[in-house]
Amino acid sequence: MEEYQQSVLYVEDNELNMVLMHHIFKKHLPSVLLLKAETAELGLEIASYRVPDLIIMDIGLPGMNGYEAMDTLKSDESTRHIPVMAISAFAQRSDIEQAKATGFAAYITKPFQVKVFTHIVKELLAGDPYTP
Ligand SMILES: [Mg+2]
Repeated sequence: MEEYQQSVLYVEDNELNMVLMHHIFKKHLPSVLLLKAETAELGLEIASYRVPDLIIMDIGLPGMNGYEAMDTLKSDESTRHIPVMAISAFAQRSDIEQAKATGFAAYITKPFQVKVFTHIVKELLAGDPYTP
């Protein structure tokens, strides 16, 4: 059985993106357990009982969106300390500004470079604030 040192929760409604992420973690972050949720609602539930070391949050989600989920995470005592990285297809300057204002630890847009993505994840897992 594999032993995982840390866990990351990925909230994503697109199945293909989820599969891609699974492969990225297997190849580049093999000691990190990837938890998955396809809605923000489910993600919040998992976040509160598993308390992952990092959350990667899609913004465009059915039902509650990534910003709303972020507000809920930050208002909850048990999840407020978890760094959250936004990953989104929305690449307008205003989107990035909004993400920063919402308190995301990092924001990257799809499609992203695996190398850049992996670097950010490792930094956030190490407890280092990411500075682009
Ligand atoms: Mg989406």
